[in-house]
This record gives sequence, C-alpha cells and structure tokens, in this order.
Amino acid sequence: VAEDRRLWFRETVRRLHDDIRGVAEGAPADYIPELANVEPDRFAIAAETIEGDHFSVGDCGHRFTIQSISKLLLYGLALETHGRDHVLERVGVAPTGDSFNAITLDEHGNRAPNPMVNAGAIAVTDLVEGDGLHERVATVRRMYEQYLGHQPEPDRAVWESEQATGHRNRAIAYLMLSRGIIADRVEETLDLYFAQCSVLVTTDDLAAIGATIANHGVNPRTGEQVVRPDVARDMLTVALTCGMYDYAGEWAFTVGIPAKSGVGGGILGIIPDVGGMATFSPRLDSHGNSIRGVRVFEELSDRFALHLFDPD
Ligand code: GLU
Repeated sequence: VAEDRRLWFRETVRRLHDDIRGVAEGAPADYIPELANVEPDRFAIAAETIEGDHFSVGDCGHRFTIQSISKLLLYGLALETHGRDHVLERVGVAPTGDSFNAITLDEHGNRAPNPMVNAGAIAVTDLVEGDGLHERVATVRRMYEQYLGHQPEPDRAVWESEQATGHRNRAIAYLMLSRGIIADRVEETLDLYFAQCSVLVTTDDLAAIGATIANHGVNPRTGEQVVRPDVARDMLTVALTCGMYDYAGEWAFTVGIPAKSGVGGGILGIIPDVGGMATFSPRLDSHGNSIRGVRVFEELSDRFALHLFDPD
C-alpha cells in the first residue's frame, strides 16, 4: 500500500504540474525593485520525506530568494538560543489579519504581533547573537548551513535593492526601538534581516528544510539536530496560524498544512512526521502568496487527505 501511495503521489504531482503550469494570473512582487526581474513562468514542486525520499518536478533546481520563509527559520533560531519566555516578551503569537508589512505592534504596543509578519521577524532578527554585523551574519549562515547541508548564498542584487528601498521596514524597526522591543543597532539588524531574506534557495532545498522540521528538528540527510523538538513544535504552530500572510485562516481551513510563503514565490509546507513539500512560482495573489503554489497545496491536501485534522 505504501508503495502504491508513493507512485500515486508522484503521478499526481506530475499531472498537477502539467495542469497548473498554464495558470498565468498574478505577477511577481515588484515593491522590491529587483524582485520584478524574475522569470514569471518558472514553476516547480518538490517533496522530501523524513526518510530522505525525494521527488520533484519542473524547475526544482532554479534558485530564487527565500524572502519571508526565512522568518520561520529565524524564529526557530531565536527560540533555540534564548528560550520561549525571552522571545515571547518581544514577539507574540497572535495572527493579525493585517498585511505582512503593517506598521503595527500588538494591542498593548509593547510586542510585535507574531514572528511571521515583518515586525516580528525584525524583532527576532534583533535577537541573533554576535558582535557586529559580520559575526551575526556568520550565526545566520551556520543556521542555514545546518538546514541546507551547504553554504547559503545571498542574491546581492536583491539584498542591495531592499537596503535601498526598505523604508517601510525601517519605520517598523524604529517604532519597535522606540518601544524598547529591539536594541539600538537598528540599521545593522535591518541589514541582517535583508540579508537573510535574500538567501538563494531551490524548491528542492525548501522541501529538505521542511523534512527537517517535520522530523522534529533532525535533518534527515545529515542526522544533525538543527532545532530541539519543542522548538520545531512552536515553529509548526506559528506556521499554521500565521504563515500564509492574511490568508492564514483560510489556508488552515482548506489546506490544513503548517506552511510559510515568501514574496519570492516559494511556499514551504510541513507535514509533521511525514516530510516537507515545496512549490515555486513567482506569480503572486493580492495576499503575496504564489497562485500556482496555493493551487498545488489545495489539490494535494485534498487528494491525499493531508489536512492536519483529516482522519488517518
Ligand atoms: N524581505 C521582504 C520584506 O521584508 C520579505 C517579505 C516577504 O517575503 O513577505 O518586505
């Protein structure tokens, strides 16, 4: 039966890729000028199980910037390094319903709403340890390396483009500085935030990252414990409640897979105890989610009963 299901899954993914590749609605993000230069019709689907069984279709080796998917990994790093209480003092876990780049804090004004919106992600980035930008970049690099199994590489043009135009993120960061949520090294922390968002990944990489989180923090390829199981659990919870921008509620309802999307066009989905699933297509909807990616996840969740609350 397991083998039948595996073949059926592969055949279905191939067919979905064929059916959905013609979807031409939506457009790549352009509020970061350099992002508008991606090839809009690239499309890939990849999956990796916690046993290391890998399968992908389409442009799965094509590299794109990880963008907001990094928020999930940085949140894990902060929890792992500082513990839950320290992080919760600065960043809550409540979904906002606002857009990802809203200039808002929680209802009391002394925490970022959650780690999946820019405010929370910048507050989490503030917690990256190290003396100066260079050391802090090295800390983030090590984290990526543990997930990817290879050195991460930033897209310098995207990084610089965001440094030059990320004024909204500056506004959010300075608001948090004024409330004592982050430390007084705002430009450095923003630079680090832009750097981690500009890291290049493939759809295959994302599926592997997902497999690590699904495997309670142990990278199935290397056997290394990247984050503790309790941290992986907290990452999954915020992914489910806040991971898909202001579409998170609908996503939890229809797809029911903890996931994080990025404006680069990637979506990372995590099926606990099973594996990671990822899509890439830079045509985005008004929430900032990949249109083809959302379609793929909807179909696969439905056909393979992958919703968290589906009966076994
Ligand atoms: N670097 C992007 C920003 O801060 C990330 C946005 C995203 O992927 O949602 O605007």
